[in-house]
Amino acid sequence: MQLLNGNEVSKQIRSTIRTEVEKLTQNGQRVPHLAAILVGEDGASQTYVAAKAKDCAEVGFESTVIRLDAGISEQELLAQIESINHNPLIDGLIVQLPLPSHINTQTVTQAIDWRKDVDGFHPMNVGLMFKGLPCYLPATPMGVVLLLEHYQIDCTGKHCVVVGRSDIVGKPMSALMLQKNATVTVCHSKTQNIEAVIRSADIVIAAVGIPEYIKPNMVKQGAVVVDVGITRVADATAKSGFRLKGDVAFEPVAQQTSWITPVPGGVGPMTRVGLLLNTLRAAQQHQNKAAH
Ligand code: NAP
Repeated sequence: MQLLNGNEVSKQIRSTIRTEVEKLTQNGQRVPHLAAILVGEDGASQTYVAAKAKDCAEVGFESTVIRLDAGISEQELLAQIESINHNPLIDGLIVQLPLPSHINTQTVTQAIDWRKDVDGFHPMNVGLMFKGLPCYLPATPMGVVLLLEHYQIDCTGKHCVVVGRSDIVGKPMSALMLQKNATVTVCHSKTQNIEAVIRSADIVIAAVGIPEYIKPNMVKQGAVVVDVGITRVADATAKSGFRLKGDVAFEPVAQQTSWITPVPGGVGPMTRVGLLLNTLRAAQQHQNKAAH
């Protein structure tokens, strides 16, 4: 068994991003600028947004966090988005999900200018992705593909089983694996004989959100296993009061795999660089356009 080490690979990609930022500065151009809108006080969302701002600072990007009260109306939120859409000094915009229940997530996602949609959630980017055209890919599936590419995992003709069909992970993941010439099966909560389906996979990508869902009896000998899942499980012995658990029972499953991602240190850091890569690309495109 060998580790698909997201910490290591993301470190290398961050270093490349820093070099690209230096090039922009040397050419007298602006550094990339990411804006993040955070609505309400959700603890996990606050942590994610703070991590994104820290990531930006580390590679030399500018970032702006716009904190809005949980009671803000949808109209007020849309007005904020519109103002950022028209701000030439901001390259990328993300609205941290989940949003309070009185705000329609689809309306908000679609209000973001797709050329600034560095989360890759806008239907325009989703459509471009499914057609295999240049677009902003959602960060997590992009991160998984970058990880597999780094370790030269050959996907051609392999049976890839994606467990989970969410808009942000499972569905785009299946499209990207199809583009890598894998034969793709997508499983979900209604899939029959799911254990047998997963056991037939050469590559398993788990994005379920149930800690240790994938057990050794569900994994073929020599399979590649990618664990997207991150669940906070209460643990009084941990300083934070919780521990992060993946969707895969790591210890027993790892023994059967050829390659496996750890949690933490696998897909998580790759997701973070995915957002940075999209923001860099947005800045390069906006500034090239402005120069012509
Ligand atoms: P989600 O929207 O809750 O989707 C979960 C998917 O799993 C759904 O399609 C659901 O099927 C399926 N599912 C649930 N129970 C199942 C079962 N018993 N058997 C088979 N399939 C089942 O979650 P998500 O946003 O895709 O995230 C999945 C996990 O990845 C979560 O732990 C999340 O925290 C993590 N995540 C990690 C990163 C990262 O950076 N590492 C990024 C994003 C998400 P139905 O559609 O039929 O309900």
